[in-house]
Amino acid sequence: MRITTRSRIKSPWLFHLNTGSCNGCDIEIVAVLTPRYDVERLGCILVGSPRHADVLLITGPVTRQMISRVIRVYEQIPEPKAVVAVGACALSGGPFIGSYVIEGPVDGIVPVDAYVAGCPPRPEAIVRGVINAVKRKFR
Ligand code: SF4
Repeated sequence: MRITTRSRIKSPWLFHLNTGSCNGCDIEIVAVLTPRYDVERLGCILVGSPRHADVLLITGPVTRQMISRVIRVYEQIPEPKAVVAVGACALSGGPFIGSYVIEGPVDGIVPVDAYVAGCPPRPEAIVRGVINAVKRKFR
């Protein structure tokens, strides 16, 4: 196994992108980072730039304004990279489906490696989604 691959498995760095969510899923992602759920025990940290990230966490149904930003952020993450769609909105549009401003779901715009269902999903489910994406993409 290459050292860069091993480092991604042992310490995947996360970048979070809100594409128009109600903030419910985003609050759960913040909870994942708190000592109670403590995703840092898996080596994960939240980074401020997609250029430093290995895993992209996407919340929200992808509004018309966000579609170009989703693509730009995805392209800025170096290969290999994994994408986790978090919440019903990211998976299917959720309660916003059918709205004229919605361009999602996420997997119609960028490839998705793990889906985390729920409205909002529990923090444990988000941690599991990150683990599944890392296993699928980096092993
Ligand atoms: S899935 Fe639910 S909690 Fe998450 S952004 Fe959509 S409406 Fe909000």
